[in-house]
Formats: sequence, C-alpha cells, structure tokens
Amino acid sequence: MQHLTDTIAAVATPNGSGGMAVIRISGQNAVSCSDQFFQPIRGKLPSQMQGYTCSYGYFINPDHEILDDVVLTVFKNPHSYTGEDTVEISCHGGRFLSQKILRTVLSCPQIRLAEAGEFTKRAFLNGKLSLTQAEAVADLISASGENAVKYARTLRDGATFRKISAFSQIILEILSDLAVWADYPDEDIPNVDSQTLELKLHSLLSAMQQLMSSYDYGRILREGLHTVIAGKPNVGKSTLFNVLSGCERSIVTDIAGTTRDVVEEQIRLGDVILRLSDTAGVHHTADTVEKIGVERSLSSLQQADLILAVFDMSAPLSQEDQILLDKLPQDKTIIVYNKSDQSSQDFNQNLLRHFSPVDTVEISAKNQDNITELQTAVEHFAARHATPAEDGMIANERQRICLENAISAVQEALDALTIGLALDAVTVSLDAAADALLQLTGERVTDKVVDTVFQRFCVGK
Ligand code: GDP
Repeated sequence: MQHLTDTIAAVATPNGSGGMAVIRISGQNAVSCSDQFFQPIRGKLPSQMQGYTCSYGYFINPDHEILDDVVLTVFKNPHSYTGEDTVEISCHGGRFLSQKILRTVLSCPQIRLAEAGEFTKRAFLNGKLSLTQAEAVADLISASGENAVKYARTLRDGATFRKISAFSQIILEILSDLAVWADYPDEDIPNVDSQTLELKLHSLLSAMQQLMSSYDYGRILREGLHTVIAGKPNVGKSTLFNVLSGCERSIVTDIAGTTRDVVEEQIRLGDVILRLSDTAGVHHTADTVEKIGVERSLSSLQQADLILAVFDMSAPLSQEDQILLDKLPQDKTIIVYNKSDQSSQDFNQNLLRHFSPVDTVEISAKNQDNITELQTAVEHFAARHATPAEDGMIANERQRICLENAISAVQEALDALTIGLALDAVTVSLDAAADALLQLTGERVTDKVVDTVFQRFCVGK
C-alpha cells in the first residue's frame, strides 16, 4: 500500500450498466483537482463548496469536451466516510462512461487509482471505523439474504467493538491494580484480593466464551448452513440434491454407490443459504475409491451444521439405515422419508422410534412432493441457529483466533491464581489477553493483518 497522503479515486458502483454510477475521490487533492474537470451549470466550483453540499454541472475532459452532466458532492474532512476530503461524482450509468470519467480524473497527476478496500482502509486508519466494523462493511457488501444484512449491520454499528472494548477495560483495570500494588509494595495500598480477582476473571471468561459461541451464527449467516444429505445408497439423495439445487449436478443412477465423492453447491431455500453436500452413501464397501467417499461422508456428518438424513419408504428399513442412524447427531438432523409415492407396507419407522430428530418430513424427491414442507423445516432450524445477536458477534476466522487467544490467556491467569503463583504471572497472562483483544478491534495490529483484511474488499469500497 502506498502512503496515505495520496489522493485516490475509483468507481464505487458495480461494474455494468445501471441508471447511474458514482466515482469517488478521496484525499487532500480531491477538491482542488475536481475544479479542473467540473463546470458548474448553476452553483459553485468544488473548491468553493461547503461540506455536505452538491452542485450540478458538466464533467469535462482536458480538451474541454463535455463527457456527461453530473452531480458533484463534496465532503470535507473529517466528515466523510474516509475521514478525508472526498468528492463523489454521480454520472449516468454504464461502464464505458464511468470508466471514461475515472480515466479523466486519474489524468490529474496528484490522483491515483485506489486499491481494493482502500477507502475503507483509510476510514479505519483515520479512526472512523474499528477493524471489526470495517470487516462488517465487506460482509455487508457480500451479504445475501435479510438475516445476513441484519448481521452485518449489527457489526457495522460497532456492537462487537463495544463488547470487546468492555472486556479490555476490565482487564486494563485489573492490570492497573496489579501494577500499583507491585510498584509500591511498601506503601499502605490494600493488597490485591485474589478471591475478588478470581471472581472478576471468572465472569470475564464466561462473557468471552459466550461471545465466542456467536461465531457459528456469524459463519452460518455469512457462508450458509453446511448441510449434508446423508443416507444409504439409492434412497434418493442425489435426486433430492438436484431438486434443491435446481439443476442436474450429481449423477443419478440405480446402481448403488454411484455418488462417489462429496459434491457441494451453494443454494438458497427461502431466506436460508445452504452449502449443500451430497455425500456418498454410508454403507460398508470393499471398493477403495468408494471407501474414500464413505469415509469422507462420515467426517462430513461430524462437521455439518445440518443433516438431511434420507430413508427410503419404498422398502423396509435395513441394517444399513441403522448404521447411519447410529452416526447421526439428533440435534442437527432432519429425517427425510423419501419415495412417499411408492410407500411400502413393509416400511416401518420403528427403527427410528428412539431417535429425536429436529424434524421429520415425508417427500417424494422424484415427483417434487412436499418440498415446501422440507423448506419450512430447514427455515425453522436456521432461524434457531442463525439469529443475529444484537450485542455483537464474532464474524470471521481472524476475530475468532484473537478471541481464542484472549480466552486462553485469561484462563492462564486464572490457573496461575488458583495454584498460587506470584501475581506477576497473572500480569503476564492478562497483558497477553489485552493484547489479543486490541488486535481484534484493530487498536494494536500489524500492517500485514490490516492489509489482509482489506484485500477482501472490492476496488471502490
Ligand atoms: P442416491 O444413491 O441416494 O443418491 O439415490 P438416487 O438419487 O441416485 O436415486 C436412486 C433411484 O431412486 C433413482 O432411480 C431415482 O430416480 C429413484 N428415486 C429418487 N427419489 C425417488 C422418489 O421420490 N420416488 C421414487 N419412486 N423414486 C425415487
């Protein structure tokens, strides 16, 4: 990344045709350079404009040719998204025109093309956003679905930052008590009471662990529910997979074991995003290639957020169904009885009577009967597992690792207290915990981490 004193520009709206496009310029030369290519029809030149005002006029190139009539808005530092002087040019939509205007802006020697996420990075470096809020901006852009937008908004509003800051505050207060006590041991300062300290650390630890449990919610909202369709061969897994994904992805045949590997697809069911895997059938096999598929499918059961366990109603339940059943976690399994169109008298659900799934649905994947019921069951499950927490959430792997480090450091401090180590040991651990939390919010973070965060962004944001 180049130096912050540069003035940067990019098209802020998506590539492609649309009613309008916005070119954003940010930095100390944004306003003065804009005077060169803006000719007001009524109103003022950018350099004469107040912040938060706009002016209607012509956008002209260096040869004084009119490229478009535009609305130019001026934001004065620090009252802008980036915290710098910013000019936004709203022109008529279309890639050709917006690129032509951008090229003209970039012909100004003081202005260069913005890198991915550089506007938001500047907002972060200028203290307009915490790192967790900046990450939420990226999530907001890529959010698909109402819940995902709600989630990203919560983070964008700074709820996570406030929560983490409250944790840091508690640790810093404890550290300052410990420091006073360590620096002036001879003075008449009340001894740090290890019982009170232990209580404080316990309640801090449980609050941090509670926040950590929100990680799965965030992940599900961002990535979708990792959903596995499981069942013995030939029960109709691939047919169901194809119905849900709306296309022919897996090979559907009558020969047991044709789905040899895990096929994955991201699909939307109502407002729920599913990352759908169609696994190889769970059964005993001597075929090595197939065996690998079976092993993978067992491990994908462990990792799944949701399992659609398919059983065939056209035949009696078998030993193989029982093997699968023994592997299924009840709290994340929806039982799908398939082939309801050929329901057999021999089919008996007794085998499943000790199993309490999240829900049970009868369908015919082939005839697409009752798929809406299945959708409702999935939506109910998702509603319980992916509801945005308004008081902050852990949104990604970077944040999760920081919080995990903080949690283990607080745990270490507690252990040190419990086994009666000197308070110095507690201080060292709590220092590490504070450091991890400051890294999480971006208050103490390396350039490399910052660069990695902003690489996720698109140019123009
Ligand atoms: P998989 O091995 O579990 O993936 O099963 P497939 O999806 O390949 O289906 C096996 C066979 O069952 C195919 O011939 C499908 O057409 C058939 N099948 C799937 N779903 C249904 C259904 O709802 N009703 C009936 N009658 N046949 C089905």
